[in-house]
Amino acid sequence: MSFYDELNETAPRERLRTLQLQKLQTLLREISGRNRFHKKKWSDAGIVAADIQSFSDFEKLPFTYKSELVQAQEEAPPFGTNATFSAEAYTRVHQTSGTTGTPMRVVDTPESWDWWGHCWGHVLKGAGVTSADRVFLPFSFGPFIGFWATVEGAKRVGAMMIPGGGWDSIQRLRMMRELGATVVCCTPTYALRLAEVAREAHFDMTSLSVRALIHAGEPGANVARTKARIEEAWSAKCFDHAGASEVGAHSFECEIQPGGIHLIESEFIAEVIDPRTGQGAATGETGELVITNLGRLGFPVIRYRTGDLVRMNLSPCACGRTFARFDGGLLGRSDDMVTIRGVNVYPTAIENVIRQFGSVDEFQVTVTTVQEMHHLEVQIEVVSGNDAERVRTHVEQAIYHALSLRPTVRVAKPGTLTHFEMKARRFRRLDGPSESQQT
Ligand SMILES: [Zn+2]
Repeated sequence: MSFYDELNETAPRERLRTLQLQKLQTLLREISGRNRFHKKKWSDAGIVAADIQSFSDFEKLPFTYKSELVQAQEEAPPFGTNATFSAEAYTRVHQTSGTTGTPMRVVDTPESWDWWGHCWGHVLKGAGVTSADRVFLPFSFGPFIGFWATVEGAKRVGAMMIPGGGWDSIQRLRMMRELGATVVCCTPTYALRLAEVAREAHFDMTSLSVRALIHAGEPGANVARTKARIEEAWSAKCFDHAGASEVGAHSFECEIQPGGIHLIESEFIAEVIDPRTGQGAATGETGELVITNLGRLGFPVIRYRTGDLVRMNLSPCACGRTFARFDGGLLGRSDDMVTIRGVNVYPTAIENVIRQFGSVDEFQVTVTTVQEMHHLEVQIEVVSGNDAERVRTHVEQAIYHALSLRPTVRVAKPGTLTHFEMKARRFRRLDGPSESQQT
């Protein structure tokens, strides 16, 4: 088993908690009075940082919301007030993809950026990446932070990094073959897209040396059926990873692949809460992930409401790590959870059902709310050569068997649904009667 920071990764939980509290207190001391964003939040809540001596004190600190960070940026453009140091101290700026709202900028000092690399070291070592590996990054480098940080991580573990920007999908596949790439980092959607491109171009996937794919950006890599589909198409192991621009690279999947991801507890404090009440959820209960990053002094987030649904598992993992796990990875967005006839439905649960159909190319789920009642519509694109109506009926039945729901399943014309290259948004919500319900 390969570790990045074995001492902390395998430490008894009590020692991990002590380490977290020490790092938290150092962080609070460092940013206290210097970081305008947090200074205002604490003074509004009547809190003095030096008074935080325990985890129960910690829970008195106010939550941080994305909307507040966005507002802080609008009030003090272009970077906002969540900065601990003067502007000259910062050497990087990145921007969120904006898939769930206004794009937000995040800034890092060399020390904070170094910390990003440290976290990505955990992600790569977790997947067994070593200096013998060649890591292919099949995307163009834009303002999104995620894959820049992968480069830092690759440097930490001594792997060779192959930048794959400026090429189309088939050129990327050829380069992977030519350069002997062993690891690929991309979204689950793009891994499937590359396999689709290979099929269309009669490119032999077994001619590649890729043994591991590390995924981020979407929950797919821990959706059992999606994972199985990627692993089959690539004849490689598929690892999940979770992170966010405003938080850091916080979770990774280990080589044991226990059906979940480890939180890097030496660098983050995670809480799971009921998103409706803000109260802590019982261990093992599904709730919203609230996270505090401990090593990004230049851009700290404290008790940050991620909007991601998780289920925490504190039992030790067979890999030897004591770091908590999120079973099933990120289960979806708390905003996307809907209750249909008493059943809580997560987007990942629907994806898991649909992905078992090799005859379905792409899909889109729409939730329409009419008079407080949610209705589910699933559109599928069927691979040509299949009996579309038959596939449609099978998908409908499979969703019913898995979730006890009867959604409307429709067959979309080939090419009408968006085929995502990067971050997929296959789940959308509409208010009021939809066209489909009026007919
Ligand atoms: Zn593990």
